[in-house]
Amino acid sequence: MLVVMRHDATEEDVRSVVETIHDLGYEARPIPGKQRTAIGLIGNDGKVPADRIESLAGVLQVIHVSQPYKQVSREWSPEPTVVELENGTRIGGDEVAVMAGPCSVESEAQILAIAQRLRDAGATVLRGGAFKPRTSPYSFQGMGEEGLKLLARAREETGMAIVTEAIDPESLALVVKYADIVQIGARNMQNFSLLRLAGRSGKPVLLKRGMSATITEFLMSAEYILAEGNRQVILCERGVRGFDTQQTRNLLDLTAIPVVKGLSHLPIIADPSHGTGLRAKVIPMARAAVAAGADGLMVEVHPDPERALSDGAQSLYPEQFGELMEQIQVIAEAIGRTLSPSLVPAGVR
Ligand code: PEP
Ligand code: MN
Repeated sequence: MLVVMRHDATEEDVRSVVETIHDLGYEARPIPGKQRTAIGLIGNDGKVPADRIESLAGVLQVIHVSQPYKQVSREWSPEPTVVELENGTRIGGDEVAVMAGPCSVESEAQILAIAQRLRDAGATVLRGGAFKPRTSPYSFQGMGEEGLKLLARAREETGMAIVTEAIDPESLALVVKYADIVQIGARNMQNFSLLRLAGRSGKPVLLKRGMSATITEFLMSAEYILAEGNRQVILCERGVRGFDTQQTRNLLDLTAIPVVKGLSHLPIIADPSHGTGLRAKVIPMARAAVAAGADGLMVEVHPDPERALSDGAQSLYPEQFGELMEQIQVIAEAIGRTLSPSLVPAGVR
């Protein structure tokens, strides 16, 4: 339930609504907005005496949130959430943010070299897994904390923000220490205890859609993070399992972008790399995702994809990434958006 205050409501009015909600035995969460304040009532068990709240001073209306996800819904917050990173990248506003990098951090030389090239091409967020959720226990599992230290080094050298995956409570504690955005991968989308911990981390969270998750399940998972008081959530469509795995690894669900934008105030980006699994399909689907209204992209790029320790077949060559950036700039402008402003090269800062 959401209590919307009149635009001329006083602080005292807001306080009194909060106190009444507490007295009734529920949690109250004030949400200041540009036009007016709203107060979310958490834990509605269907027994809330709405008329009692409606009659309080300064209350405009009481809205019953019809969706199973509450704080994630557009009803809860009509204004879009914009996640702002320390390096100035904004995700969820008019800008299209580009996150790029190798699937895995493999060595200092690899990550530093690719980071420079990506930054010079206009990416503002560097991705790279240090903890890899691999299908086989015998595949490369990531460099662990050493990989996180290399990402932090790359941030120092390039000014790019860092997004990297946490796969369990131990890796989450480390990722929080080094990264700007905590990534929760497709395989952990319904790891509810991990979602709660990510919610409490105080960091922006990039939540990837599970490979057979419905959009409602996806949004319910995001609700776990918001329920812990963390509104800085970026959703990521990364492809679902289709029936034709001969031609593509996954089926990038582009419709999810406008659907989620209608249902939620949270930003949604697209990952055409995992979404297709094939290098030649990444650029067309990246272009399509921007045209569909994605708030950003996450793209795998490797300096030497043939030798990549994971996901080489879907990793772009750095030159291809440069071409992609030029193309999506035109597409973004055609729909009234811009790419995140490029970071100033390290030497000039
Ligand atoms: C990744 O981003 O490298 C990754 C493992 O993604 P997903 O969780 O979408 O498979
Ligand atoms: Mn990958």
